[in-house]
Amino acid sequence: MESWLRETVKDLELYYNPKIKAIRMDTSVNVVGANPAIETVLHEGANLEANQYPSPYSDNLRKALAEKYSLHEDNFVVGNGSDEVLDISFKSFLNPNELVIAPYPSYVLHEFFVKINGGRFATVDLRPDFQLDVEAMLEPSSKMIILCTPNNPTANCFKKADVQKIIEGHEGPVIVDEAYGEYATDSFISQVDEFDNLIVTRTFSKAYGLAGLRVGYMATNKKLANALQKVKIPYSLNKVSEAVAIAALQDTAYLQKGQQVINEQRAKLSAGLQALGFEVFPSESNFIMFRTKVPSAEFVARLAAKGILIRDFGKRRLLENCVRTTIGTEELNTLLLTKIREVNEEW
Ligand SMILES: *Cc1c(COP(=O)(O)O)cnc(C)c1O
Repeated sequence: MESWLRETVKDLELYYNPKIKAIRMDTSVNVVGANPAIETVLHEGANLEANQYPSPYSDNLRKALAEKYSLHEDNFVVGNGSDEVLDISFKSFLNPNELVIAPYPSYVLHEFFVKINGGRFATVDLRPDFQLDVEAMLEPSSKMIILCTPNNPTANCFKKADVQKIIEGHEGPVIVDEAYGEYATDSFISQVDEFDNLIVTRTFSKAYGLAGLRVGYMATNKKLANALQKVKIPYSLNKVSEAVAIAALQDTAYLQKGQQVINEQRAKLSAGLQALGFEVFPSESNFIMFRTKVPSAEFVARLAAKGILIRDFGKRRLLENCVRTTIGTEELNTLLLTKIREVNEEW
């Protein structure tokens, strides 16, 4: 069987899939409760005509996005989570064994999408302040560059000027993954028409609280969007998810509430973690990375046994004993700090 496998997928492992029953503060989603857009669509009963296919390219959602960002619907490609649109990007541009450069540490699935599309993946370490090494990122032999800002799992934003230097300095496509863009001040989404090689990806999974419905999109210039659209699997986004995403764009109260909670709670939770003796890294997103003084895998396991799951990154280079938690509501964060204090005391 081994010999049948495509060379680039031989070393793949299954993705993170914890079986633990616990409060989930490990996936950086919005924890302020359900987005009312779900209720609007499912209970106020839009006639979805499920016997008919959805629009192959989610035209209505693309129109709604165009309105939100003052762009054109043909600037957008919509997919089943931003994971699908990341996959489409590599599928569209990578010939076998072509190289993709990404900063390290960053989002694990970027490497996955490169490999399942037959590409090679190489990383450039972030500087000690977790900012980009621009020169090294501009490796001349690479076909594509991908980075996310705010960066997952470090939680900081890259300097906009650095990202711009990378976009301008690279010949091929550059993907800027803005999965947490709703929490940041800088974004490239309004500038996609200014570059011939910029693709910005976004998601409804985080700030919009719709991770379970799988809706994501990319914005790019119309020429690239047209090429990418042809590679997307038609109908990949179902009608229910498309309708909920449109409703979520129209009613922004939920989004704003989530942003407000994060803005209020970020400093409090950071201070609480610092008071408990952890090294806490600056966050410009809805999650915080911090370093434990004890082995982080065991720390996460003990916290999970007390009912709260956060994510361990402690085995990764440069992130020794680092863990990441979602920023919750006041109530959730208080519970988190209480349980962490217990873990510390029992160590
Ligand atoms: C969560 C996340 C995504 C995945 O988004 P989906 O739309 O749920 O597929 C993409 N990129 C980064 C950096 C993320 O953290």
